[in-house]
Amino acid sequence: MIIVVKKGTNEEFLDNIKETLLANGMSFDVLQGSSYILIPVAGDLTTSDMGRFKSLPGVERIINISKPYYMVSKNYREKSVVDLGDGVLIGENFTMISGPCSVERADSLDKIAAFLSSLGVKILRGGTFKMRTSPYSFQGLGENGVKILNETAKRYNMKSVSEIVDVRHIDLFEQYIDIIQVGARNMMNFALLKELGKCSKPVLLKRSANATIDEFLSSAEYIMAEGNENIILCERGITSFDDSTRSMVNIAAIPIIKGLTHLPVILDPSHSVGNFKYVPDVSEAAVVLGADGLIIETHFNPISALSDGYQSLNFEHFESMYKKILKLCEFKKENL
Ligand code: PEP
Ligand code: MN
Repeated sequence: MIIVVKKGTNEEFLDNIKETLLANGMSFDVLQGSSYILIPVAGDLTTSDMGRFKSLPGVERIINISKPYYMVSKNYREKSVVDLGDGVLIGENFTMISGPCSVERADSLDKIAAFLSSLGVKILRGGTFKMRTSPYSFQGLGENGVKILNETAKRYNMKSVSEIVDVRHIDLFEQYIDIIQVGARNMMNFALLKELGKCSKPVLLKRSANATIDEFLSSAEYIMAEGNENIILCERGITSFDDSTRSMVNIAAIPIIKGLTHLPVILDPSHSVGNFKYVPDVSEAAVVLGADGLIIETHFNPISALSDGYQSLNFEHFESMYKKILKLCEFKKENL
């Protein structure tokens, strides 16, 4: 960080700043500018509360140089691959995750899994504890849904992913689910993130619609700092003034986040666009921009879906989109 002090500041204040830095084990320099005195500071700033320095008399401003995360950054590692076993390697090969918004019934999930696995999709999604805006909307099948998802995925040699909403469900998810999803609304539930950091299953962390990329990566750091290094980051759109899509598809976030972290980065076009018509185009764009995968909602009859039907692809739409995506991946591998 750089501490900016106004020129002409009382010598006592300046001495106090220097003493505080020394007492915190930090090394620094003092540069005399024309209007300001600049104090570049080196040291472990990750555990220091910047407010402490900001409030020192004479300090005008603090400029942060280092990021509030380290383990998820490229300084820690160049590239990470999340290995789910059976050759499913997220970050190594392009990964398609698909399934309904919610697990609705065992037979309907079976129908969707049968279709997806026939196309070669290896990871089945399905919400079981739903984060609905209204308490009167379908809330998911809960524990029963988790078990249905587990059985269905196994039947088709697929891996499962479902969203956790409560720290008390960790044991249940660890037992039955292959990838534990943290939804956008819980990205800053630090107590949950810390506990997931201690668990043995990979975590798919979605970006909050209102979080900066630095905040997103700091949330991933919470998980990694506790020991769980198997994290997949998911961009899912951010809040915007424009209501023509459900969220603003922040497509540039893919190369930006990939440039900052070694973790695999995927896109959720379904929740960001919120309209099935645009899911295929946005998905192709994500592939071109280097996404490691996609998570897409699919339903055999979207009109009858208990949640998010409007943004879900039907089988016909999914199949034509997926075939195009695979061709695009092939083209990229051979030509780019
Ligand atoms: C979901 O993937 O089911 C979901 C609710 O997404 P998000 O947390 O991104 O809104
Ligand atoms: Mn949904």
